[in-house]
Amino acid sequence: MADATDNTSTGLLTPTPDDDGAPFWDYAAQHELRVQACANPECGRLRFPPRPCCPHCQSFDSEWRQMSGHGRIWSYVVPHPPLLPAYAAFAPYNAIIVELADAPHIRLVGNLVTSADAPLNSIDPDRIRIGARVQVVFTEVDGITLPRWVLERP
Ligand code: ZN
Repeated sequence: MADATDNTSTGLLTPTPDDDGAPFWDYAAQHELRVQACANPECGRLRFPPRPCCPHCQSFDSEWRQMSGHGRIWSYVVPHPPLLPAYAAFAPYNAIIVELADAPHIRLVGNLVTSADAPLNSIDPDRIRIGARVQVVFTEVDGITLPRWVLERP
């Protein structure tokens, strides 16, 4: 849905939306977490990452459904050096995989932080637990709004 671009001001990777994924980022800019769904009324299944055709019924009709923004940590990593210099400055930080409460078969990769605008390393990795409930938050980084995740019970 997007290529990663080395952002020149922060050194961190931000997405470069493509045609299929652009609505995801447009909704994120409105602080809405939406997932592409098949618009065939006999199918209607959610899919991620975005793509032109439904893998279940081959319909090319799609819509974007708003999610509750709730999920659970399905897995996570705490990257260790060697890292790109911009990331080494933030280590230890985390990358989590979130299973959406509205669509458990859909999992999004992101970062667990203490608040929307908190640094990448704002949460102690020892506090991260698989299965922990999380809530989406949004922050703007160099003109693009990114979904991030906070613990529902910090
Ligand atoms: Zn379908």
